[in-house]
Amino acid sequence: MQMLVALVGAFVLGAVGWTLLEYGLHRFVFHGKSATRLGAREHRQHHAQVDYFAPWWQKALAASAVTAVALPLAIGVSGTAPGLSFTAGFIGMYLSYEVLHRLAHTRPPRGAYGRWRRRNHFAHHFADPRRAMGVTSPFWDHVFGTTLDAARVRVPRRLAMPWLVDANGEIWPAHADDYELVGTAFDDERTRAADTEAAMHNRSPST
Ligand SMILES: [Zn+2]
Ligand SMILES: [Zn+2]
Repeated sequence: MQMLVALVGAFVLGAVGWTLLEYGLHRFVFHGKSATRLGAREHRQHHAQVDYFAPWWQKALAASAVTAVALPLAIGVSGTAPGLSFTAGFIGMYLSYEVLHRLAHTRPPRGAYGRWRRRNHFAHHFADPRRAMGVTSPFWDHVFGTTLDAARVRVPRRLAMPWLVDANGEIWPAHADDYELVGTAFDDERTRAADTEAAMHNRSPST
């Protein structure tokens, strides 16, 4: 019984550990001072061009590298079984983050958590990329004072998520409480260059 509690505890600790890394990486690396550092370039491209995601092989490589460091460390600290359980929680939460982030961009919300996650994340994208760093939870944003009031998110029309708008490019009524569309859908090399410039400097895209 004691072992089971230790294993579950280690798993939960691993999952919470990931959320702290998720926050730290997003704030200090992806939106850190250097726009060219590994991860920062890809993430800022994701901000400039919201349907861009870093390739899976890069993510798999990063996950393997983190596991290679975290697993022996966790086993060294707590023993084989709890160490494995901690790492499983950590990697499991990391994979959940990847899936939840992707779904936020590609699918409409279902349920209160999905609705919160999208509103929070798109406020990060479109209102202030220096706040609302947590994608899966607001916990560390509360701890470190970087929450963002995401009551109603102003989405530049040219960058609107596909699930937000109908075939005419107008917002679905179901989402009108959470989002409003601003600007025009016009998109060319100049607007793309301006969006890239803004993303590189951690500014929200112009409306
Ligand atoms: Zn995103
Ligand atoms: Zn970001």
